[in-house]
Amino acid sequence: MQITIQKTPTSRLSEVDFDNLAFGRSFADHMLVAEYADGAWKSVQIQPYGPLSYQPAMMSIHYGQAIFEGMKAYRSKKGDVLVFRPEENMKRFNKSALRMCMPEVPEEIFLGGLKQLIQLDNAWVPEKEGCSLYIRPFMFATDEYVGVSPSTTYKFIIFLCPVGSYYSKPLRVRVETEYIRAAKGGVGFAKNAGNYGGSLYPTIEANKAGYDQIIWTDAATHQYVEEAGTMNLMFIINGALVTAPTGDTILDGVTRKSVIQIAKDWGVEVQERLLSVKELVEGISSGAVTEAFGAGTAAVIAPIQTIGFEGKDYELPPRKESDFSAKVFTEISQIRLGEIADTRGWIY
Ligand code: PMP
Repeated sequence: MQITIQKTPTSRLSEVDFDNLAFGRSFADHMLVAEYADGAWKSVQIQPYGPLSYQPAMMSIHYGQAIFEGMKAYRSKKGDVLVFRPEENMKRFNKSALRMCMPEVPEEIFLGGLKQLIQLDNAWVPEKEGCSLYIRPFMFATDEYVGVSPSTTYKFIIFLCPVGSYYSKPLRVRVETEYIRAAKGGVGFAKNAGNYGGSLYPTIEANKAGYDQIIWTDAATHQYVEEAGTMNLMFIINGALVTAPTGDTILDGVTRKSVIQIAKDWGVEVQERLLSVKELVEGISSGAVTEAFGAGTAAVIAPIQTIGFEGKDYELPPRKESDFSAKVFTEISQIRLGEIADTRGWIY
């Protein structure tokens, strides 16, 4: 499919302070915009990043047919731009699309378009250590119609944000036993906008109680841990990597699957299984649980220091350089930057 390119006459690059990048507040010069109508992708254009205009009755604002992805591109020491496993994000995007009755986005638009967009905005990929270019592909329903049904027209857009290094301090998280993120049969495995809207209120309640994030538990019983905020949740228990199995309540994280693969390659036992809150807090008290961490694109690995449950805080042991989570963080960071051999074919 032909991608037309309309370049900006005036780059905003010189206005950006690359030494003080806040997350998600600066936007590269261009964006990719693809239009879907009459059962097919009609046009794909790279154009200056800027406002779009829509009708108040645009369906996605009312009924939530809106999905997104998040991934990062890095500048290697040689100057190349490397994207970490974007095929996985494309596959997940199309699973989200199917669940939300939206059209799939073909590879030539998702990856082919991304490649051309990054080539054009190459100068926006930060060079400073730890910084990266955050990539936000998303799709939303655009029919002007006030009936609850799938839209017939959609827009797929990719924009780019240069972002600073993301260091996650060890987190205090609280096990959530009232609100839920996802339920069996629901849309938890999809990256649709509503999942995130619904998570805000309970997260703010946890923040007020002095916690950084929530540990989501299963909707039916609140007995089993699922995810941590917008990260997959992982533990080292008696030397094994333990994480909840993916299913319809858990997002199939790209970082999660990368950590699991690396653990297997290193000979670390991996257990994808249900983990009860009871086993978790007893295991922290007995010393069986030695590490707890979140895994996701933003921080790669976010260590968890404290887990709050029923009014009591359970403290994980202090972090050590020899921890699995510290070593896997270094491994993934080096792969992303092309500093060690990409033996698994993860770099695009
Ligand atoms: N769970 C949720 C709910 C998320 O939003 C994310 C972020 N995409 C993740 C897990 C981590 O996924 P990934 O490693 O692909 O970023």
